[in-house]
Amino acid sequence: MAGAVIDGKAFAEGLRARIAVAAAQFEVHAGRKAGLAVVLVGEDPASQVYVRSKGKQTVECGMASFEHRLSEDTSEHDLLALIEKLNADPAVDGILVQLPLPGHIDEQNVIATISPDKDVDGFHVVNSGRLSVGLPGFVPCTPLGCLMLLKDKLGSLSGLDAVVIGRSNIVGKPMAQLLLAESCTVTVAHSRTKDLPEVVRRADIVVAAVGRAEMVKGEWIKPGATVIDVGINRLPPLEASPKGRLVGDVDYASAIQVAGAITPVPGGVGPMTIAVLLRNTLVAAHRNAGVDFDESSL
Ligand code: NAD
Repeated sequence: MAGAVIDGKAFAEGLRARIAVAAAQFEVHAGRKAGLAVVLVGEDPASQVYVRSKGKQTVECGMASFEHRLSEDTSEHDLLALIEKLNADPAVDGILVQLPLPGHIDEQNVIATISPDKDVDGFHVVNSGRLSVGLPGFVPCTPLGCLMLLKDKLGSLSGLDAVVIGRSNIVGKPMAQLLLAESCTVTVAHSRTKDLPEVVRRADIVVAAVGRAEMVKGEWIKPGATVIDVGINRLPPLEASPKGRLVGDVDYASAIQVAGAITPVPGGVGPMTIAVLLRNTLVAAHRNAGVDFDESSL
């Protein structure tokens, strides 16, 4: 029997609806809207699309969106000065600098300048430190979205064997920390891992964050395992799909035959990322304004 499809699009819609209710309550208590500032440097078309949909969804959830579009030749000095201004602005609860940045700007300097209490992307070293020692902070949006889908599907994750494929700072590593905090036994696999199929075969939970189209095959999956596919890969154009089909890191057709549940691409992890960004912003707003809030209610 084929596995269940984990509908990230529907889950993200539900999350945004809960955020909208809580954002309206925040406005009553704080006397202002929660606010997200998004900074885009340059004209990268994909980044422009992301920034536009972040702004739109922020406003739809009843929060304030502040967009700062800077030219490609903006100096690092000027960008850091803008971030300092946003750090000091009480109307801004979250700051997101769209990556990648132009080559002449040092991304690490930029991330380090964002106040950790407004770092809703969770990329600041203070927030990765907080995550690894179990203090409240901000967790990168994509892995937190994956965890929400897993807990929604499985309830307690305690004692389960989890394999995370990929060790990037924005997905693989924070994902592994989150699963460890849920008492999973976690293996992090990467490009140098020996016999990856055998490693994956042990897992009750597989999170694939590699960036290689359909790499993880159904025969690698333990029957009944839950599979979270973070990958977004565009295949070369074909006559049937002139723009090129979007696929994940998992070979969906074979994996769904074996898995207990699996996220599709598109419509799985992808829609969760912006919804979790809005969640993090609303959490930041409550913390910054000193308004009590049950963060687990989202
Ligand atoms: P990355 O390139 O920074 O990291 C990829 C990781 O995969 C590396 O740690 C590398 O060791 C590992 N890897 C590479 N080849 C491998 C192999 N053959 N076997 C095992 N491991 C291998 O990528 P990332 O930023 O973590 O993103 C991973 C994927 O997730 C990409 O497809 C990206 O587009 C997607 N992504 C999606 C979202 C979303 O919103 N859904 C967000 C971020 C990233």
